[in-house]
Amino acid sequence: MNVTVFGAGYAGVTLAQQLESSLCSDIELTVIDDSDTHLLKHEVHRVIRRPRVADIIEVPLTTLFDRATVQTAHIQDIDIETQTAQLNTGTTHEYDYGAICLGSVTADYDIPGVAEHGLPLNTTADALAIRTALFEAAGVMSTADSSAETSNLRQQSPSDININPQQHDAVPTNDTSPVDIVVGGAGLSGIQTAGELAALANEAGIQTNITLIEQQPTVAPNFPENFQNAVSDALSDNGVRTSTATIVERACENIVKTDTGAFDADIFVWTGGIRGTDAMDKNRPTVQSDLRAGTRTFIVGDAGRGIDADGESIPASAAAALREARTVADNLSQLVEYDINGGGGFEPRLDPYRFEVPGWIVTIGDDTVAQLGPEVLTGSAAKAMKASVGAGHLSSVGALTQAAELVDAEIRSSE
Ligand SMILES: Cc1cc2nc3c(=O)[nH]c(=O)nc-3n(C[C@H](O)[C@H](O)[C@H](O)COP(=O)(O)OP(=O)(O)OC[C@H]3O[C@@H](n4cnc5c(N)ncnc54)[C@H](O)[C@@H]3O)c2cc1C
Repeated sequence: MNVTVFGAGYAGVTLAQQLESSLCSDIELTVIDDSDTHLLKHEVHRVIRRPRVADIIEVPLTTLFDRATVQTAHIQDIDIETQTAQLNTGTTHEYDYGAICLGSVTADYDIPGVAEHGLPLNTTADALAIRTALFEAAGVMSTADSSAETSNLRQQSPSDININPQQHDAVPTNDTSPVDIVVGGAGLSGIQTAGELAALANEAGIQTNITLIEQQPTVAPNFPENFQNAVSDALSDNGVRTSTATIVERACENIVKTDTGAFDADIFVWTGGIRGTDAMDKNRPTVQSDLRAGTRTFIVGDAGRGIDADGESIPASAAAALREARTVADNLSQLVEYDINGGGGFEPRLDPYRFEVPGWIVTIGDDTVAQLGPEVLTGSAAKAMKASVGAGHLSSVGALTQAAELVDAEIRSSE
């Protein structure tokens, strides 16, 4: 019997690791991803200001599993009915039980010009492209991120990693007019991207006008009001203007047109929404609280639109993906055991997933806003929590050195 986990992000790695211990050792376990590293995507905005963080937040997949077979291949299509996946290697991969954990990518909603002019933020390469765009628009060269320096990072101890503001070594040219930046979409990624750009510009001595546009009436829509207010204050303190209740209608060269007017945009970063990957025909199928998409296939994390045990939509987030994976690991293991025992009688009753997270934490430049239950924290308490979240995930998947490096980077970046 073969159990396959498609995708090795938060959902996929957590699920596969749990299955390694819960499935009998004679069940084949395969993990397929088109990258050979696990990316801490919720920290990817950090790379805009700190290119060297890229090495800390990408963990080689082969170091994460004891017995699962890791296959590096692009999944072109998954057929839930026939339990097969087409890979770019030309092979058809068959599975007995499968979990689709392919995450999501940026959606442009067919808004004219957004795909062409909007910079997405899904990968470390995207973050570096945004960084480069800022320095280019300012007519400034940065000497910070030479590939030689980056490749040396893994040989350094955390305390050797220079992440202080001087790393930018900006070389200004004569052009001193402010760089106009528009970030479209004020969810978790847009808020943090705008904050990093503001902090980077400040450190490098680049003048900017940064506007964060959101179609809903508030930033961080769907979050509690006290969190929204604290985020809004932090954005303002960092020099980011917000334009809420504003719908992006068209993006052109150097300008973003909205229903409330046009915004100059030397740089346009688009974080306005997500869609399913091409392997899922761009869809995020709806799954109920057992996260089951077919008799023997589950959809976990951003790849699906989950409805939880209380009938509530599960927000696309790393926090939810990790927790969904734990529920699916238990359910999938029960089904496998039922099958190998002959499958007689009633199928086991599967646990429903109920969305419960302790809170949310965002960074806006060097400021941090944490929502913990009804409380909102800022300042050093929030910073300490933030430092522990990414590191907590890294250590829980076994990447202990990178966990230590991330805490060090988080703490020293704000010193
Ligand atoms: C800038 C930014 C900040 C964020 N901040 C937060 C935050 O503060 N808190 C929070 O909870 N969430 C945050 N998020 C959201 C969070 O990162 C996602 O919700 C989370 O990554 C979803 O996890 P996942 O496992 O479903 O998918 P992913 O982590 O995206 O993993 C999907 C995996 O599938 C692989 N894959 C995809 N397609 C294919 C294919 N066709 N073939 C092979 N492999 C494939 C990918 O390589 C990847 O490894 C943020 C996101 C961004 C971009």
